[in-house]
Amino acid sequence: MHAARKPYLARMLQRAALATTLSLLISLGLAGCVAAGAKIARTQVPTGGPSLVVLGIAQDGGVPQAGSFGDPRWDDPSRTREVASLGIVDPRSGKRWMIDATPDFRRQSLELYRASGGAAKPVVDGIFLTHAHMGHYTGLMFLGHESIGAKSVPVYAMARMGEFLRANGPWSQLVKYDNITIMPLVAGEPVRLADDLTVTAIVVPHRQEFSEVVAFKIAGPTRTALWLPDIDSWREWDAQGTRLEDMLATVDIAYLDGTFFANGEIPGRDMSGFPHPFMSHTIERLAALPASERAKVRFIHLNHTNPALAAGTAARNTIDAAGMRVADEGEIEPLFNRVAP
Ligand SMILES: [Zn+2]
Ligand SMILES: [Zn+2]
Repeated sequence: MHAARKPYLARMLQRAALATTLSLLISLGLAGCVAAGAKIARTQVPTGGPSLVVLGIAQDGGVPQAGSFGDPRWDDPSRTREVASLGIVDPRSGKRWMIDATPDFRRQSLELYRASGGAAKPVVDGIFLTHAHMGHYTGLMFLGHESIGAKSVPVYAMARMGEFLRANGPWSQLVKYDNITIMPLVAGEPVRLADDLTVTAIVVPHRQEFSEVVAFKIAGPTRTALWLPDIDSWREWDAQGTRLEDMLATVDIAYLDGTFFANGEIPGRDMSGFPHPFMSHTIERLAALPASERAKVRFIHLNHTNPALAAGTAARNTIDAAGMRVADEGEIEPLFNRVAP
């Protein structure tokens, strides 16, 4: 692992180069550093009970997406978005968990740590996986020996998802080296993180390519949230016996698949067959519900093409008018009633 000891001259040259780089960074790059750092959450969750913290709201490919070289958001950190992930923090035990391990795990694990105010180790006390599409599990690689070399991090996965990790490299190596411990999830059976904090998997219809696909319901002492980043359509969920309206009635906050705003968003493509409900359809479907129900909806998992990523757009105005909103990265939602100071 360690580089061979270098000759004295090489070490001196390296040190000089490092000093030059550092002074260059200090003189030229400070503004850039501040701008980039400003995206990392500084707010800690309230003490006294568990809270949620939104770590990312982008679709699997992130915002901007690889290969979109002309996208102006590359040069404006305030407009980039990380891949959809939700943190769960319980200051009473000092523990923190994540829903999904995304390609942005490096930064998101730091954001979760800072929001938690807890100990630096372990990096995370557990990870719940929704499914085996690239934005939702590949961040597990950072737990491996090339990076953190984590020890037995519990990874909660449905049966096929767990088998996928055990049977396929490089994930199988995480299991073999005991970087992760796969914990079996069963749909509908709550995993207890504290006496008054549970996480329950709910099966949703979505391209089941390598694994099942689930959403999660997180229930705290007095409040409950739904995290549902990917679903093919609400109609298919109806056919399986779960109505979105009924699910909304059982939660206080519903983070829902908002991948695309409407058909026509990707120029030259008929998107009607795309396996996601458009935000416009979700808005239409829920239009007749009372305002208090619609206010529970927060869209996540936005594709880089989604106009609702930017404030002030017509898409954003439509969402506002519907009494819903797009989730913010860094937003914190307590799952308990806070006593006023
Ligand atoms: Zn996804
Ligand atoms: Zn997916």
